[in-house]
Amino acid sequence: MSTTSRQDICTHIEQNQDRMLDFLSELISAQSLPGEEQPAQEVLKDKLSEFGGSIDVWEPDADDLRDHPGFFETTPYQEHGYEGRENVATTIDGNGDGPSLAMSGHVDVVNPDPIDAWEHDPWNPDIDDGRMYGRGTMDMKGGIAAFIHAYETLRELDIELAGDLTLQTTIEEEAGGVGGVLSALERGYQPDAAIIPEPSGVPKVGVASAGVLYFRVTVPGKPAHAAYKFLGVDAVDKAFQIHQALENYNDELNERIGDYQPAVNQYAEAEGSSANLTITDIEVPGSWTSTVPGKAIMEFRMGWPPSAGMNRNDVREEITGVIDSVVREDDWLVDNQPEIEWFGWSTDPHEIDFRSDFYELVCENTTAVTGGDIQRRGGLGGNDERFYNRYYDIPCPSVGPNGGNGHGADEYVEIDSLIETAQIHALTMVNWCGTVGELE
Ligand SMILES: [Zn+2]
Repeated sequence: MSTTSRQDICTHIEQNQDRMLDFLSELISAQSLPGEEQPAQEVLKDKLSEFGGSIDVWEPDADDLRDHPGFFETTPYQEHGYEGRENVATTIDGNGDGPSLAMSGHVDVVNPDPIDAWEHDPWNPDIDDGRMYGRGTMDMKGGIAAFIHAYETLRELDIELAGDLTLQTTIEEEAGGVGGVLSALERGYQPDAAIIPEPSGVPKVGVASAGVLYFRVTVPGKPAHAAYKFLGVDAVDKAFQIHQALENYNDELNERIGDYQPAVNQYAEAEGSSANLTITDIEVPGSWTSTVPGKAIMEFRMGWPPSAGMNRNDVREEITGVIDSVVREDDWLVDNQPEIEWFGWSTDPHEIDFRSDFYELVCENTTAVTGGDIQRRGGLGGNDERFYNRYYDIPCPSVGPNGGNGHGADEYVEIDSLIETAQIHALTMVNWCGTVGELE
């Protein structure tokens, strides 16, 4: 009979924090950009094999996933394929019939360039004033180190879980996660509940993600010497008209759907801007200052919150309609139609089921550990949690540490927050899966 208490678990996690930080440091040094995740997975294979379960390692197969409603071809898949890009999972079988749980983290991190913008070394983490700096400390190798430390703590305290616990690390979240979390779900890793420790910044809990679409509009013009502009058709000018119409659409959409509160909780600046249609690139092939542009290519990212009640097909239709309305009004474009291509990110938004027992349990433990009030956040960016919540009805919040400069220079995680994250993870494993023997 175990006489360990919840407090013992939390104390043990705090006292052994150096082990978590050392492991995080090792994981950061294993550089793992999207498409080139393997160095980090090698570290994790070694670590996860210490836990007595068998290690499952697999490369995703795009053709197995293609018919899934959440599928799209990610950019790293198009560039690298899935060969040599492994997902890793281990399941520790429960000794009873408690519910199952998965802890899932992505190992890919975004490129730290320009490195000279960093004061710290992105690949050689250092600790300064309660923060650890390095690429991936916050997003999200910190969260992975936390759940591993949480489980190691339970082992050291001889706490046996009654339900199965899966620990898994996946690829390409930053590019849409299709070959990562979706591949894991389709391989059969469908637990009763899951946590992805993206850096929600406890006591903030991640509850939602945005729908995201990338698209490219190629606008034809007619090149001519700029001295005889009247002989040509300026493709950039036509592109600007389309851009303006899309900007207007974005404003109308924000008026129509109003604010999404978890987004405003995340960034007060999100007020009035829950949907974001952004032009991210414009190219004029063969541009020459004395030539009327003969072609313009614009790229856009569209994001919208779950409260809009639209899936990616709905939004594609609206965007296509806006561009068509510009074309219909323009004599040149009617006969010289712009081309719209959808590429890269293509995701539906999601929101967790707030009535689920698991969500309630996570909130209780988060409050108990941090002493703070829960704040729901999310809905501005896309993330892996959507696969669990949206397509499999598996409740999956993000419960992760506080940090800063994600995707930027001098990314860091706050160590106190990382410790709290591990404590919440451990308590949730114990409460959700149940224990063999009593816990005080
Ligand atoms: Zn992330």
